[in-house]
Amino acid sequence: MKEYVESFLELLYPEKNTCFICNTYNESINDKYICIDCERKFIKLEPPLCAKCSKPIASTDHIFCRDCCTYDRSFEVSKSPYSYKGLVKDSIYNFKYYNKPYFYKLFGKCLIDYMKENNYTDFDYIVSVPLHPSKLRIRGYNQAELLGRYLSEKLSIPYKDVLKRTKKTPKQSQQSKSSRRKNLKNAFSVKKLPRNENIKNSRVLLIDDVYTTGSTVDECSKTLLNFGVAKVYVITIAR
Ligand SMILES: [Zn+2]
Ligand SMILES: [Zn+2]
Repeated sequence: MKEYVESFLELLYPEKNTCFICNTYNESINDKYICIDCERKFIKLEPPLCAKCSKPIASTDHIFCRDCCTYDRSFEVSKSPYSYKGLVKDSIYNFKYYNKPYFYKLFGKCLIDYMKENNYTDFDYIVSVPLHPSKLRIRGYNQAELLGRYLSEKLSIPYKDVLKRTKKTPKQSQQSKSSRRKNLKNAFSVKKLPRNENIKNSRVLLIDDVYTTGSTVDECSKTLLNFGVAKVYVITIAR
């Protein structure tokens, strides 16, 4: 199955040394999938950042942002290399909605470089935020799962397909913060499979494409903790 998916996706890849974003050919691109000009346009999150959710904060006098002071978070920490703006935002949109599943290689590589630089690799398992089955049928792939499996392979951390989305929720960007939180309540559950039992008492890295209000990853973290996972850490491409 994996070989089939890989070879199918291979057909859709731009040629080697071609930037996934702007299609420029340059031999220095190599295994990065992005040219220097496009990479410069990816805006990095710069400190001071909230110690919990990595939101930029005004001064180093505070540790947490206002949201993290107001709401309890089920995850330990959430990290992202990029700010959800400009070219990063457009590229994630293309990754999700314009049938560019192979973008997982580009973003996966960015995440791995970032995680290694920040010593953010000490996890027992990698888990991704699931799509509702009806959405998965339409899109054909779950972008978070593609990223999760890529990270798992490159970092030699087992990937666990444990979460399922039991409730269909409206598109997040069209809702207010409080209605997102309400809609997502009990939206996820852990698949009842014997091989999922060993995630109990482990440190799990949860992956999603974007951190918006944090309600999705928070609800997934809550579900994992209720199942018996010891700690949940989050990574997203951008926030
Ligand atoms: Zn480019
Ligand atoms: Zn925060």
